[in-house]
Amino acid sequence: MKGTRKVFVKSFGCQMNVYDSQRMTDTLAPEGYVETATAEDADLIILNTCHIREKAAEKVYSELGRMRRLKDDAAANDRRVLIAVAGCVAQAEGKEIVRRAPAVDIVVGSQNYHHLPGLIARAEREGHAVNTEFPVDDKFDHLAGPSRAAMRGRGVTAFVTVQEGCDKFCTFCVVPFTRGAETSRAADKISAEVERLADAGVCEVTLIGQNVNAYHGAGPDGRPWSLARLLEHLARVRGIERLRYTTSHPLDMADDLIAAHRDLPALMPQLHLPVQSGSDRILAAMNRRHTRADYLDVISRLLESRPDMALSSDFIVGFPGETEDDFAATLSLVDEIGYSGAFSFKYSPRPGTHGAEMTDQVDEAVKSERLHRLQHAIDYQQAAFNRHCVSRTFDVLFERPGRHPGQIVGRSPYLQPVQVEAPSSLIGEIASVTITEVSTNSLFGALARQPALAAAGA
Ligand code: SF4
Repeated sequence: MKGTRKVFVKSFGCQMNVYDSQRMTDTLAPEGYVETATAEDADLIILNTCHIREKAAEKVYSELGRMRRLKDDAAANDRRVLIAVAGCVAQAEGKEIVRRAPAVDIVVGSQNYHHLPGLIARAEREGHAVNTEFPVDDKFDHLAGPSRAAMRGRGVTAFVTVQEGCDKFCTFCVVPFTRGAETSRAADKISAEVERLADAGVCEVTLIGQNVNAYHGAGPDGRPWSLARLLEHLARVRGIERLRYTTSHPLDMADDLIAAHRDLPALMPQLHLPVQSGSDRILAAMNRRHTRADYLDVISRLLESRPDMALSSDFIVGFPGETEDDFAATLSLVDEIGYSGAFSFKYSPRPGTHGAEMTDQVDEAVKSERLHRLQHAIDYQQAAFNRHCVSRTFDVLFERPGRHPGQIVGRSPYLQPVQVEAPSSLIGEIASVTITEVSTNSLFGALARQPALAAAGA
């Protein structure tokens, strides 16, 4: 029988990495590994890395320096600690990681987590194990599902990966290189996973993928299902009250998906739809394959379908060749749409991408100044969107205790955190809340009905 060992996983980056980290610990559970919250007492340390942000690889190497010291301390006490690097940096750097950081025992690419038990055994036997292939078999067919206890421990909301990889090749992005070509999971596998989550008390599921609305997984009849069809199917799973999906590409906002926002009450009225720039010249240089007018058309059809839709986006400022006029076009697009929030970043070249080879890079000081102006505009819109919620009453799904005693925190349909003075027995329930106050990032409210009624009515 396998003895108990402890695994510590540190996740960097997006929700897909958080999901992958959970699936790694689920896969290691039958091998006798239990999750620990601290690296200090772990027998296996996994860094699940992200390559989206600037200097991602350098940050991983610096974190590995800290992990090597923990490994040395453990060795001085006759305890063997294994260090694994997973995720997009592992995929991009491969064996180079072991060369630069010999304390690393395992390098595992994002499509190979199901091989972790074998890689651990190989590293224990041979010293190192590296696997960054793009395998022909689907990791999801082999990754263990979470136990009921693990699902319960993770709360009432869950992420489920339905799609991975990307074929779009935006010129700033490494995803097509680190995650490979677009693939979608079969609908019945996703449905079975969502049913298990619902059975463990999860009531909100967010479907995730690098390009989630390009989903085209096989349906039970063997024919490809669209994301809309999948959502419609999952909305019928008993116990699932709320559905969301992220991240989407404007080109893949199909008519049936737009209609689903009108027809499916479980599909929440919030959409993250990155546009990156408001200038057609820059959108073409980014190889986004759509124009500003295409994006505005999608937004207008979405709002026709669901008038209260809250919209968010990603923006990159200072892409090579961006002029003041191009940037002004981004600001005017923000003005035209009115976002409930958005993420904005300065462009920084990613090795291996076409954008990194462009010669007309924008000066850092110019990027910083433009980012400052854009963030000011977005913050203003977010504050306005939140202010508009005061005195309104809507359903909140309570997820966890708040920072102060007697307070619990949930999410509005528009994904804003909502803090309410209410009994903790409401965690996991949906209750009607009237918003009384707002700050830039949060809403504060009061239960619109007595707790007993609210809980019964959820
Ligand atoms: S669509 Fe998204 S994931 Fe795909 S290349 Fe463009 S930015 Fe990257």
